[in-house]
Amino acid sequence: MRATETGRGPESRAARCLGCGALLPPLPAQAVAPHPYTTAFATCWSAYGQLLAAQYTDPARMLFHQLLVDAYVVQHPGDPTTGERDRRVVQSVGIHLMTLCLFFEHEADPAEGTGLHRRMVARPALASCVGPPTEGT
Ligand SMILES: [Zn+2]
Repeated sequence: MRATETGRGPESRAARCLGCGALLPPLPAQAVAPHPYTTAFATCWSAYGQLLAAQYTDPARMLFHQLLVDAYVVQHPGDPTTGERDRRVVQSVGIHLMTLCLFFEHEADPAEGTGLHRRMVARPALASCVGPPTEGT
């Protein structure tokens, strides 16, 4: 389960997204497939999809596409310590945090974000990244 149920009564079906903490109503079963490794509640994942759809249809919003993706993903990172240790969890958060760092600490233009992200992902150093950090690091 990717959310914590809250309260009693009609709103008891609402659940808190484990990633961002938003209190959201549940979606009908199988309304949206969950992301394979993030901590996003299905309703939150669906809302994110709606934001992406709005961006793709509006060139002005697309200037901030990578910023939206990075902010969402780092709030819904997944848990590398449960189930199969999934390298994608660590690599995904790492690359999205690096892109956010370029925006906020190095004044990179968010409109260049998708290209920056792609160039970082293509670097051999990232491809050879080892798995999640061990306990205590
Ligand atoms: Zn969320």
